Amino acid sequence: MVTGASAVGALNTIEAMSVQKIVLFYVFTPLADPEAVRLWQHALAEGCGLKGRVIISKDGINATLGGDIDDVKKYVRITKSYEPFKKADIKWSTGQGDDFPRLSVKVRPELVTFTTPDEIKVDADGVIGGGEHLKPGALHKLIEERGDDVVFFDGRNAMEAEIGRFRGAIVPDVETTRDFIDEIESGKYDEYKDRPVVTYCTGGIRCEVLSVLMKNRGFNEVYQLDGGIVRYGETYGNSGLWDGSLYVFDKRMHMEFGSGAESLGSCLECGKRTPKFVNCANESCRQQFLRCEDCTRAGLHPTCGSCVSVGM
Ligand SMILES: [Zn+2]
Ligand SMILES: [Zn+2]
Repeated sequence: MVTGASAVGALNTIEAMSVQKIVLFYVFTPLADPEAVRLWQHALAEGCGLKGRVIISKDGINATLGGDIDDVKKYVRITKSYEPFKKADIKWSTGQGDDFPRLSVKVRPELVTFTTPDEIKVDADGVIGGGEHLKPGALHKLIEERGDDVVFFDGRNAMEAEIGRFRGAIVPDVETTRDFIDEIESGKYDEYKDRPVVTYCTGGIRCEVLSVLMKNRGFNEVYQLDGGIVRYGETYGNSGLWDGSLYVFDKRMHMEFGSGAESLGSCLECGKRTPKFVNCANESCRQQFLRCEDCTRAGLHPTCGSCVSVGM
């Protein structure tokens, strides 16, 4: 029995050697000593040979890491053995290997930089006073019941929404998460204050904070998509309310929920649909813009729209 099991185990290990996985998770929980957690997380991730980004704050942890499947599993197992992180909801996806340039583990004032570190309060159950969490099925139920009254509110940077978003979503004019406060205080969205507003983002973390900020600023019925677009895509693929590609923060740059997904974005040069962002060739700009693979191969349109218009 033991021999058989370990033989199978060994075989699985060999087969799994080249399988690269990326994990994405966050936990909002009070951490008395973020620096100690940082040291531990750094040693653990490094020891497992992982690369990616981990942010620690007094309010918890936010991590995106990639590596060999067995190493990632080991990292996850040990991370979850720490009581405050036990409930971490780990989102797995398949990487290409070398998805991140390096390992970075840092302590920051906020897990996501909304520049409101004092407005967010957490306890062992997570963020206090956030929007009601809706799992993908519950989201569909809300829409069945409330129909067009339901408003999707994109909690990401506007650029991310260029290649994919929920059908009919409001995409706030934000370049970074820091811009959200001005945006929701601008009055532009006041007409939605008494409607059911569903915030969504990649994995859910930005909405944990954004939904609090919106509620505190007079939005009366705020929900957040539990597990974010990632979980929604796993549940409904391309047959639900999501259109296009999902922008991701690793070398892949985008992912799709099964075949047949078409990006909502268009190549700046030829107009063809593409999910491919590239960096502006102007070193002082480096803004990302959409350019299809054919135009990239042909060396067309090296700079972003703004740099073209100023003759760079
Ligand atoms: Zn093109
Ligand atoms: Zn540019």
